[in-house]
Amino acid sequence: MSDAKLVIGNWKMNGSWAKLCDFADAALRDRPTCEAALCVPFPLLPAAQSALQATPLRWGAQDCSAHAEGAYTGEVSAGMIAEFGARYVILGHSERRTAHSETDGQITEKVQRALAAGLTPIVCVGETSAERDGNQTPTVLRRQLLQLVRTLGRDMVRIIVAYEPVWAVGRGDAATPGLIDDTHAFIGETLAIHAGLATHSLRLLYGGSVSARNASAILSLRRVAGVLVGGASLHAADFVDICRAAARCADEASPVSSVDA
Ligand code: PEP
Repeated sequence: MSDAKLVIGNWKMNGSWAKLCDFADAALRDRPTCEAALCVPFPLLPAAQSALQATPLRWGAQDCSAHAEGAYTGEVSAGMIAEFGARYVILGHSERRTAHSETDGQITEKVQRALAAGLTPIVCVGETSAERDGNQTPTVLRRQLLQLVRTLGRDMVRIIVAYEPVWAVGRGDAATPGLIDDTHAFIGETLAIHAGLATHSLRLLYGGSVSARNASAILSLRRVAGVLVGGASLHAADFVDICRAAARCADEASPVSSVDA
């Protein structure tokens, strides 16, 4: 597994053709050397393909259907997303788990569709503040991960898991590096044990109020393979700054005691 850090922007229901052009200009000026992508709303996928293909930025979507095709009005298949050159799809974001009552079973089906279409799924997991306050974080994370890992087994190396504590998403206040490191250690060990993989073969991101200000502290954690960025990914200058931090941190990741399986 390469040590390059990944920066994924989640535009949610924001953005426009003009904003994609701003990002393309910024990326061509700054040429980020980390792996970076913007996950845009479905209608912007063709615009992303056209605006970003000559830049170092890749692109993706924020959800896909659990079905391949058929009578599913309003849904978008993984195959359709892949047709627009997308590399990534975010699945199981807390906003979808909450507002659309997505279950771990449905999210696992979507992951399988995404993999079959050649996309890299970025699966979000994380506890709410009530679950954290009730010391339920390990139980919640285990529940969110186990169906996935039992279904995918060693194919877990083909997906990316993003730890996004719900209480840190969109709040302007990220989790502390210490908490992120501990939780990533727990997630890595859980996946390694159940998938029979070495922890270093799994890619784990952190998401939740990542900004140009705190990106270096988070990205310098060795267990953190990258960040999933919401609000700050809407500003080209901030996104480029986070990419610069990712490139710097890839070379200077802080040492960690090994829990490799
Ligand atoms: C997100 O929506 O995935 C996210 C991490 O948002 P924010 O960075 O705004 O907290």
